[in-house]
Amino acid sequence: MVNLFDTNMDPELKNSILEHINRCFDCQKEYHNALEIISMLKPKLQPNAPFLLKQNIMNQLKMENTEMKAQDPKVKKFSPRFKRILLVAAVLAATMVIIPIVNNNTSVFNSTARAANSLIDNSIRATQLVKSMIVKLKVRTLPNDNFSLVGPDYEMVNHSIYKQFGNPHKWRVEKPGRVVVCNGEFQYMHIVGMQEFYKAPSYHNLIEDFELYLEPEKILIKEQYNLKKDGSALTMEVKNGLVYLAVTHKAQGDFTNEYMLNTSIEESHNRREYVFDNDTKLLRGLKIYLIEGEKETLIVNLESIEYNVDIDPTLFALHIPQGQECIDLAAVPKGEVFTNITSKQAAEILCKGLSQKDWLLVAPALINYGPNGELSSDMKEKLGGLTLLQLGEPFKSGQYPGEFVPYEVRLKSGRIVKHNLALRNDNPNKVWLVDGGF
Ligand SMILES: [Zn+2]
Repeated sequence: MVNLFDTNMDPELKNSILEHINRCFDCQKEYHNALEIISMLKPKLQPNAPFLLKQNIMNQLKMENTEMKAQDPKVKKFSPRFKRILLVAAVLAATMVIIPIVNNNTSVFNSTARAANSLIDNSIRATQLVKSMIVKLKVRTLPNDNFSLVGPDYEMVNHSIYKQFGNPHKWRVEKPGRVVVCNGEFQYMHIVGMQEFYKAPSYHNLIEDFELYLEPEKILIKEQYNLKKDGSALTMEVKNGLVYLAVTHKAQGDFTNEYMLNTSIEESHNRREYVFDNDTKLLRGLKIYLIEGEKETLIVNLESIEYNVDIDPTLFALHIPQGQECIDLAAVPKGEVFTNITSKQAAEILCKGLSQKDWLLVAPALINYGPNGELSSDMKEKLGGLTLLQLGEPFKSGQYPGEFVPYEVRLKSGRIVKHNLALRNDNPNKVWLVDGGF
C-alpha cells in the first residue's frame, strides 16, 4: 500500500493494488488511515522540517528489524498499532524529499526542543500499550454544533470520549447535543435537538478535530512536527513527577479572508499546555488557550484521563428508534443541476428553489439535511417562500475545503437573514452540497 504514495510507481501495480483496496474492507480502512495522516501533516510539510521524526522512526525500524532477525521467522509479527506507525513512516519516506541526516550537535534543534522530542517519542511508545481510555473534557463551544467549533465567547461544554483500542477500534464521543459512536465498522451520529441520525463508514470523519483526541499518539506526532517549525515557542518543566510542556501555535490555513479565523483549534492562534506523567510518559492533562492579541481564553480543558479501565460495551452502540430515518453519508451525491457551475450559481439555484418551494429541485444539494435531501417540515416552513435579496462573491477561508457564499434573504416571516452559505463539491460527481450557513 505504501507504494501507492510513491510518485515513481509502476501504474499497472498501482491499479492492481487500488482494485484490491476497492474490494477489501480491511485494506480500505488502512488506506483511508494513511490518507488521513498525510492530510493531517500536509499543511506543515516543509522540505527541511521533519527529519528528526523520520530518523526516529527509521531507528525504531532498524531496532525492530534486528530484534526480529533474532526471532524464529515463523513468529515474527507486528502488532496492528505498530504496523500503523510503519505505514506512517513508509508514507513519509515515500512522499518527502530525502534530507541528509544531521548529527546530534546541530544547532538547528535546541536542547529544550530535543528533550521535548524525546519525551514525545517515549509517550508515543507508551501510548501503544494502552488498551482503553476514558477522557473528560470541557470545550468552549455550542452543545449542538460541530465538534470542531470553538470560540472565546461560548460557554464551557462537557465532552466525554470512550475509546477501546484493539481490533477493531471502538469509540464514542459525546456532548449534550451530539453523540457519535463507532462500532469498528460504521459510525453513527445522533443530533439530539433535531432528532436526526447519520450513518457513515468508520473512516469518515464525523467528529472533525476531535479525531485527534481519540489517539493521543496522533496529537503527539503532530506536535513533533510543530516542534521543527520556526515560530513555535516551547517550554518544558519537570515538577512533582509531572512534565509540563507548552507549545505556542499559529493558525493553520489560508486567512486572506479571516472568516474562519478562531473558529476551530487548528484555525486559531493558541497555546497548548500538556502534562505528562514522568514515570509512565502517558498524557495526563491538556489545556488549550486561544490567543487574540493580549487576550487569552481557555477553550479546551482536559479534566481527567483514565487509562486501561473497563468500558461498558453498550456505549459503542447507538439506539436508533424504530422507523427513524438514518442519513447515509457514504452515498455518492448525484444532481446534474448542481454540477459544472460556480458556488454562487449553486446558491442562486438553491434560493430560487426555496423561494418557489420546489423541494425536488433543491434536494440534491441538501442531502446532509435530510434523507435524500428532503427537508424536515420545520425547515420547509421556515425557508419555503423566502426572497433572495442579495448574493455576494464566494470566498475561501481557513481549512474549509469548499467556498462560502454571502447571502441576504427575507424569510416568509419577514425576518431578514444575512449569513454565509457553506458549499462544497469535493465529491466524485462534483455536486455542490450545502454544508452549513442556513
Ligand atoms: Zn486486503
